[in-house]
Amino acid sequence: MNNKLYSNLIFELSRPGRVGYSLPPCEVEAEGLSSLPAAVRRDEAPCLPEADEQTVARHYTNMSNNNFGVDTGFYPLGSCTMKYNPKINEEMAALPAFTQLHPAQPADTVQGALRLYWEEQQMLSEIAGLSEFTLNPYAGAHGELTGLMTIRAYHRSRGDEKRTKIIVPDSAHGTNPASAAVCGLQIVEVKSTARGTVDVEDLKPLLGDDIAGMMMTNPNTLGIFETEIPEIARLVHECGGLMYYDGANLNPMLGVCRPGDMGFDVMHINLHKTFSTPHGGGGPGDGPIGVRKGLEQFLPDPHVVRRADGTFALECRDGSLGSVSAFLGNYGIIVRAYAYLLALGSDGFKMAGRLATLNANYIKERLKSHYLLPIEGLCKHEFVFDGLRPEYGGDHHDDAHVTTLDVAKSLLDLGFHAPTIYFPLLFHEALMIEPTETESKDTLDAFIEAMISIAERAKTDPESVKAAPHHTPIRRADDVKAVKDAIFTYR
Ligand SMILES: *Cc1c(COP(=O)(O)O)cnc(C)c1O
Repeated sequence: MNNKLYSNLIFELSRPGRVGYSLPPCEVEAEGLSSLPAAVRRDEAPCLPEADEQTVARHYTNMSNNNFGVDTGFYPLGSCTMKYNPKINEEMAALPAFTQLHPAQPADTVQGALRLYWEEQQMLSEIAGLSEFTLNPYAGAHGELTGLMTIRAYHRSRGDEKRTKIIVPDSAHGTNPASAAVCGLQIVEVKSTARGTVDVEDLKPLLGDDIAGMMMTNPNTLGIFETEIPEIARLVHECGGLMYYDGANLNPMLGVCRPGDMGFDVMHINLHKTFSTPHGGGGPGDGPIGVRKGLEQFLPDPHVVRRADGTFALECRDGSLGSVSAFLGNYGIIVRAYAYLLALGSDGFKMAGRLATLNANYIKERLKSHYLLPIEGLCKHEFVFDGLRPEYGGDHHDDAHVTTLDVAKSLLDLGFHAPTIYFPLLFHEALMIEPTETESKDTLDAFIEAMISIAERAKTDPESVKAAPHHTPIRRADDVKAVKDAIFTYR
């Protein structure tokens, strides 16, 4: 491929006077323009690229080919559940009966759409063992914020204003303390044991009448099931706090166990992880939250109710924390997750969680002779290596050795997306792998071979690993320069 022609900015491909479309001359006077005050009018025409249609089509098509997604290759990004997004989801969400809806239409003209929302909220309640869900929040972090606002609304409804602190484990995803801070809560950190789970002894002295609640992720960000939850929930409830479940890692729990049964009061789910809707640049997300019985009235407005005559309506409630999104959230995403739920069914569901767990353990066991496994034993959907083993050139105190970053860059050369790296912060050379249930054994084996080949090369030819990637459209980027000296405009 001629890189000069294809990898430039569209501005660099611009030639003065070159046009893609020729429009007929404007038949009306540009009156509106001349009536604008001079102070707000620009002095010169905007600097827009001028290119023919074929150049534009090639430019963007080639750029999209440089992209990496679940549809192009294996994407073992820990904590992100990059499972395959079935195409039937897209077909259903593209039905004009959904895409042509107006959110302010009278309820009697959108009965099907309201029913879908209501049924999905029922299904999530059943999966989680909770009383009611709202699908309105836009993302996991937005769900966390909404869930914490629900907890605050609950305390305030009892006139209890002094609960201003929230307990968050040191292994938590960064969004937990961030959401708590946005909610105006003070964060109290609880430590992990050497086994990677919450340290109950460290927790006890933190509890008191100023604690609004505790956030827990289960399985936690190390992919480890938190076995002390019943005791932790008892302690937190005893001091008057509520238990918040970060359900972004719900995938391995599907059909196996339910947060509501473990003693949690509020939780969020990521439709764009567990429920196979697109991720990140692939589209907007959705972060439903669920609550146990007795907390429903605090959930955001509006919500969908089924009336005694079987019809559906949008309602607002006294006591609600207010609205957190436009109408019912990202409705197209809610439709995709609904299609996924129906396609999988309850039997498929029970398989998904188990296979996600099996796949992660398979990779872990086959790679632990090459990569350092700080916490032995069964993991759930994901696990964390602490870089290469010393005999393969890993050294946690010396960046001149082959680092996790070097391994991640080498994987790109071999056609795989890199795992999550340097998170969680508990290990110096963290490399966090989550395969999900949708990958075949062939793909897992190819990934394992690639990881082993990198380890072998780190031993025999460390310089080539440190210089990776060698075959990607750009070589190793200078991350620090990119952050400190960011250039956002062509000029
Ligand atoms: C992804 C994730 C979140 C945040 O979800 P977003 O939709 O990215 O805001 C929170 N907690 C955990 C454990 C996660 O993996």
